[in-house]
Amino acid sequence: MRRTRLFLPTLKETPAEAQIVSHRLMLRAGMVRQSAAGIYTWLPMGLRVLHKIAQIVREEQDRAGAQEVLMPTIQSAELWRGSGRYEDYGKEMLRITDRHDRELLYGPTAEEVITDIVANEVTSYRDLPKNLYNIQWKFRDEVRPRFGVMRGREFLMKDNYSFDLDKNGAVHSYNKMFLAYLRTYARMGLKAVPMAADTGPIGGDLSHEFIVLAETGESAVFCDQALLDMDAPGDDLDYDSDLQPQVDKWTAHYAATDEMHDADACDVADDQLITARGIEVGHIFYFGTKYSEPLGAAVQGPDGQKITLEMGSYGIGVSRLVGAIIEASHDDNGIIWPESVAPWTVGLINLKVGDADCDATCERIYADLGAAGVEVLYDDRDERAGGKFADMDLVGIPWQLTVGPRGLKDGKVEVKHRADGEKSELAIDALGDWIDARAKS
Ligand code: ATP
Ligand code: MG
Repeated sequence: MRRTRLFLPTLKETPAEAQIVSHRLMLRAGMVRQSAAGIYTWLPMGLRVLHKIAQIVREEQDRAGAQEVLMPTIQSAELWRGSGRYEDYGKEMLRITDRHDRELLYGPTAEEVITDIVANEVTSYRDLPKNLYNIQWKFRDEVRPRFGVMRGREFLMKDNYSFDLDKNGAVHSYNKMFLAYLRTYARMGLKAVPMAADTGPIGGDLSHEFIVLAETGESAVFCDQALLDMDAPGDDLDYDSDLQPQVDKWTAHYAATDEMHDADACDVADDQLITARGIEVGHIFYFGTKYSEPLGAAVQGPDGQKITLEMGSYGIGVSRLVGAIIEASHDDNGIIWPESVAPWTVGLINLKVGDADCDATCERIYADLGAAGVEVLYDDRDERAGGKFADMDLVGIPWQLTVGPRGLKDGKVEVKHRADGEKSELAIDALGDWIDARAKS
């Protein structure tokens, strides 16, 4: 992508309305613009990151055996009356009336929609288990939308729903998601700690929140340092094996949000106990037959008996993650994207646009990167070098490649690694290998 063609409205000034660093940086880096309170337009760079995050979520869901669907944003009130939640949900639900005076709502979550589908379409025990997910916009009329996309009213969520024949099966489905979540966050460069959670309005008796520690987090949390030293399951994770021991390794360590914290039950030594603030980036629930019972999601068992399905639901805040990653990875100059979610892998800076040698070299590098499948943002604007460097740091692209007349005389370009600021010179002859290395990482 050429910077001269890209719609990337970066700002030098810090917008006054933004209270936390991720919100400030998302505005300054031209990722989003607020359209109404808690409702945002995603601009090209923001959308690229959002898509990368969603894609990691998707790959890990698929790998764990879940199947993607797409449910509507607008749901019928009738369905929610069926589960008894229409009245209960309260003011966070945006209620809509259509021209025929039928009551609709903008879905804050989708237990009712998916349970209804399964109730109608799944009839035999042979069709189970099933785990269905979608990545779809939700709306919750939050009392206090704030912190940009972290607590929006409209936000993108991955939500999925598991259906099993019995509690053992349901717990296995829950465990799959527990481990898939750890892998998902790790791939985005985040350490998310699973914490025992309150099941809240979703209901049920087994629940964990996944929390990224950050000063600006909305929840106070308490956890064993050991959890921060543990690694997510690797690529050899076998979802068909008994997952309980792996989950137990995590849940054996104390971790709780303030709502669930019990100082008497906390067995962590003082010097091992982390007291911090955290951002909730995911929440998983097992709730048995809470929705399947009233909505009639049942199948016929092998002996013809009726089996009401055991369910769980699992959410990841996809749009909130964009903010959470920035909270976890930035410096005074801007965002520092982990490569896996970066909008582009390489930022190419032409220090002297109009200089034949600089232009030709940049064009060649730009083409070579493209041919190797490395995503590149080429700053081809005829502007001051200082401004270009500042902008490149602000938008946080992992690798910066600077081409200037002085370096070219010696047959060199400069490479800067955004994360540690380390700079080095690279011979033009060695660029091919460097590009290959970017293509692999
Ligand atoms: P919170 O306590 O932060 O309001 P929740 O418990 O209401 O979250 P869930 O219903 O479990 O959230 O939704 C799943 C995920 O969706 C959350 O873990 C969070 O990452 C994300 N999420 C929830 N509400 C919002 C919001 N208003 N804006 C952005 N993301 C949200
Ligand atoms: Mg909420």
